[in-house]
Amino acid sequence: MSVTPMMAQFLEIKAEAPDALLFYRMGDFYELFFDDAVAASAALDITLTKRGKHLGEDISMCGVPVHAAENYLMTLIRKGFRVAVAEQLEPPEEAKKRGSKSVVKRGIVRLVTPGTLTEDTLLDARAHNYLAAYAEVRGQGALAWADISTGAFHVCRCPRVRLGPDLARLGVREVVLIEGSDVVPVVEDLGAAATPLGASAFDSASAEGRLKELFDVGSLDAFGTFDRAELGAMGALIEYVEITQRGKLPLMRAPRQEMSGELMTIDAATRRNLELTRGSGGGRDGSLLWAIDRTVTAGGGRLLEQRLAAPSARVDVITSRLDAVDWAVRNDALSGQMRDALRRAPDMDRALSRLSLDRGGPRDLAAIRGGLEAGIRLYQRLSETDLPLKVSDLVGQKELLDLLDAALVAEPPLMLRDGGLVAPGYDTDLDEARNLRDEGRGVIAAMQADFVSRTGISSLKIKHNNVLGYFVETTAVHADKMRADDHFIHRQTTANQVRFTTVDLSELETRILNARARAQSREEAIFTALRGAILVASDAIFAAARILAELDLTTALADLARGENWCKPRVDNSRAFEVTAGRHPVVERALKRDGAPFVANDTALTAKTGAAIRLLTGPNMAGKSTWLRQNALIAVLAQMGSFVPADTAHVGLVSQLFSRVGASDDLARGRSTFMVEMVETAAILNQADKHALVILDEIGRGTATYDGLSIAWATLEHLHDVNGCRALFATHYHELTTLAARLTGVENATVAVREWEGDVIFLHEVRDGAADRSYGVQVAKLAGLPEAVVARAREVLTMLEESERAGGGKIKAMIDDLPLFRTVPAAPAPSKASPVEDRLRDVMPDSLSPREALDLLYELKGLTGH
Ligand code: ATP
Repeated sequence: MSVTPMMAQFLEIKAEAPDALLFYRMGDFYELFFDDAVAASAALDITLTKRGKHLGEDISMCGVPVHAAENYLMTLIRKGFRVAVAEQLEPPEEAKKRGSKSVVKRGIVRLVTPGTLTEDTLLDARAHNYLAAYAEVRGQGALAWADISTGAFHVCRCPRVRLGPDLARLGVREVVLIEGSDVVPVVEDLGAAATPLGASAFDSASAEGRLKELFDVGSLDAFGTFDRAELGAMGALIEYVEITQRGKLPLMRAPRQEMSGELMTIDAATRRNLELTRGSGGGRDGSLLWAIDRTVTAGGGRLLEQRLAAPSARVDVITSRLDAVDWAVRNDALSGQMRDALRRAPDMDRALSRLSLDRGGPRDLAAIRGGLEAGIRLYQRLSETDLPLKVSDLVGQKELLDLLDAALVAEPPLMLRDGGLVAPGYDTDLDEARNLRDEGRGVIAAMQADFVSRTGISSLKIKHNNVLGYFVETTAVHADKMRADDHFIHRQTTANQVRFTTVDLSELETRILNARARAQSREEAIFTALRGAILVASDAIFAAARILAELDLTTALADLARGENWCKPRVDNSRAFEVTAGRHPVVERALKRDGAPFVANDTALTAKTGAAIRLLTGPNMAGKSTWLRQNALIAVLAQMGSFVPADTAHVGLVSQLFSRVGASDDLARGRSTFMVEMVETAAILNQADKHALVILDEIGRGTATYDGLSIAWATLEHLHDVNGCRALFATHYHELTTLAARLTGVENATVAVREWEGDVIFLHEVRDGAADRSYGVQVAKLAGLPEAVVARAREVLTMLEESERAGGGKIKAMIDDLPLFRTVPAAPAPSKASPVEDRLRDVMPDSLSPREALDLLYELKGLTGH
């Protein structure tokens, strides 16, 4: 059975990308065939059709229009597919020249994967889109990561235990791994795609060569000293980018080597738990990022997310960031003006990346112009000030800016082929071509007037269509008059009209057509030249973009600090943790929306020699978790270089931050609640060092009371004796409070409540001391548990407490006896409504006249007997 030439071509191309869906360009559509079509039609919810037969079987097919392809691509990538895009590499006329049956040349121009997106529509403007590669050489691990939409490129040594935390911090979308790697589950657990690549891609020797070539340097020493695993990871990453971009490498910045200990370590569970960049719903809403983001540019937004996800662990870095924010707080008016100027600064990073991949359009040129312009405006305001940031990076590209300014119109079109991006007066050749093209219309009008007077036919018209081009048209009645004139050459007779041409009309037509084509190709040439000029200056543009983002973040944090009354924290190498009047930024914001005040609380958790632990007991709903988390967030904010929600704060450097909540479900990963809790607690006890800050919220809750109590007890002792770190430990096991007397580093704290007529009033004040009860039953009542259940629970509680006071041990017997004490009916008794209530139930207020309402009032009063 024969295979059609087109099918043969399809199969050949498909063999190059077996694990991707192949978008096969046919005119205005990308078509998918066979299994690809079945998978894509289901994923995109589009119709699956059939087209001919292949080896006797129907060929399944579906297609998406090219103009809407980006949306479909986004859906497919989100659903975990990879897509190979095969374009037509020649115009169909070219193929026809080879014979009527020959197939247009096609080839894959790009492999679209989650980690290699560049289109604005496929990307979140305010988040990085990282691709990573992980390599191991003789037990040494390294992670390289890059955002090809901005050119950012980093590498660090990464032992296996840090892989999960590092990937989580970066929010990596796709990780390149050596074929057969056993870290695939770590990657997939975090929701990232794991992409296998052959071992040769990870070879450190060839990686070194490739990197030198890419950055055009004789030695990599200028960027740092890299071990073989780091080289392997960087090499594999570059190789993979090259594969997906089909040889076209985006602009990459020189690799920045991140040293271990440079950043605060925060593992994935802690991130989730503290909702740093993602809220509980998975999006930004409700996260710390959401609560504090006041940046006005996409670059500033990305920098904020990056800093928040990876607070620094170096006092010098933190201090200089804090000093910059402090400057902006003090220079209120100027920083307000800076924010106004920044608002107009476009996203130069992403424009530059698209231009380098030849995927850019006229608006990307304009984005660079706008960014450089904003940079110069800001520099003029800032150069004379003592702002501790390298603002000189904002300038130096005046020539490029002048060029772009002269060459581009104010608002260039989206697509190059739309034309009209070059400003009039920039290029004489283009201006001439445009004049001719545009004047054509006027010349034709004049020619028509001339023909009218020559023939005396006032209804004569010059028209245009795609078949004839320009022609002179008249009605059949007047046709003879024109036929008599040699000047007019007959072209066509339709039902009512007769059409002619003339020599001068077809000459003019050729000139107009030529002018249009000439204008178009001139604009393309100018675009290419401008793009070239931008790419030559790419390093300087990246530097300017970086400082714009820094200025945005600095002024945004200052705006936040001023608006919310935050203070500059003192950060040093000690193990202090002292906060006065600290607040939880997200809870405070939520309460403010409801008009409720947030009660600020102090924290004294300074460790001198050993551990410093606060054991927090208190009623349910009192604010224990809030207080625990607000302290963790204050540490994160201080070390990312932000002011903090407190009156004063002294934070001794936190190297590792751990936060765990007892009994959180992780059913998706097939672990029982209690198992998750224990796995996470184990990770803390095994890793936390003296500079760690540990937040434990009701550890040991998901099992039987005595098991839980014992585990919590032993955990607290281990933190105190072995880890020797700073920790906040909230629990409902009041028995633990006795440990404070025995363990020198443990102190009790509680959250105050007041009891009033059997109900509990929350004061949300953290105080020294221990709670003796949890008020769980009162909280259950507040939550609306049926009155009968609440009453019964009170009874059981009293029994249990009495039994315990009597020395315990009698619980079993007591439970056997309990039914005898049952005094409350199981189901709520039907309430007896009063006659007034009965009468009111039938009243429809909207249908009452004022008079009837008054009568009703008298009637009701009568019913009460008064
Ligand atoms: P449980 O023991 O039941 O888990 P909890 O003691 O951990 O409760 P939180 O979850 O921290 O209590 O707080 C409960 C609610 O109380 C919060 O959602 C918030 O609305 C309010 N709240 C907490 N802290 C404060 C505060 N400092 N000021 C005002 N309201 C607060």
